[in-house]
Amino acid sequence: MMKIDVLTLFPEMFSGVLGHSILHKAAEKSAVQYNVVNFRDYADNKHQTVDDYPYGGGAGMVLKPQPIFDAVAALKEQAESKRTRVILLCPQGKRYDQKKAEELARVEHLIFVCGHYEGYDERIREHVVTDEISIGDYVLTGGELGAMVVIDSVVRLLPEVLGNQESHMKDSFSTGLLEHPHYTRPSDFRGMMVPEVLLQGHHKLIEEWRNKEALRRTYLRRPDLLEKIELTNDQENWLNEIKKEYE
Ligand code: SAM
Repeated sequence: MMKIDVLTLFPEMFSGVLGHSILHKAAEKSAVQYNVVNFRDYADNKHQTVDDYPYGGGAGMVLKPQPIFDAVAALKEQAESKRTRVILLCPQGKRYDQKKAEELARVEHLIFVCGHYEGYDERIREHVVTDEISIGDYVLTGGELGAMVVIDSVVRLLPEVLGNQESHMKDSFSTGLLEHPHYTRPSDFRGMMVPEVLLQGHHKLIEEWRNKEALRRTYLRRPDLLEKIELTNDQENWLNEIKKEYE
């Protein structure tokens, strides 16, 4: 079972996300165990202060090293696994993607450190953290939303969390391509028709249509992804046909 610890000053923010839907069911199935901790509880000063003014002056408060150093040490001590990754949410970190989600889904113990205010003492970064993750090129008020994004994308990859084991393997990015379009009943919705090939039950043709449409989507919306993957001969041919359609 994967163990996920979250260090935050706002633990209540997590109850909505971890307490519902697939993330909640994953814990019920014992695929994952969540533990959300207020790192203020680890502050060793009388007023449980966790931040202070920056040396050298300037705006904003900086998170002190002691509460986070001690909280991480205690959580590592409690964990059964010694394979722990300590993840700092940070706009300066490596941009998060599906490949990173797949990598983290293979780890037994994750500790997320959510910053707030201006930032953290650099020694946390240098001595405690193993991975720095940014969820995009914009600045949030805190790391909590970022941690939730990463936890959601990792937990859904754990074995037996999604009902249909195959369902995440064909997701956008997992294959290197964006996923093909989906349709459901009715086949004629106010004159808007479902592509004929999907209605005929011919599995090989359906698979081929899906492969081509995944290529088309990727070519039109994210051509950069095509440069990163090796296409099969069939895919090369389909892609050339698709490109001609748009010439
Ligand atoms: N002063 C910092 C800087 O310029 O890099 C920004 C601090 S931000 C206001 C406060 C906290 O929000 C950060 O410490 C981090 O935990 C979180 N955060 C903000 N943007 C983020 C992003 N794009 N990805 C992940 N975490 C982010």
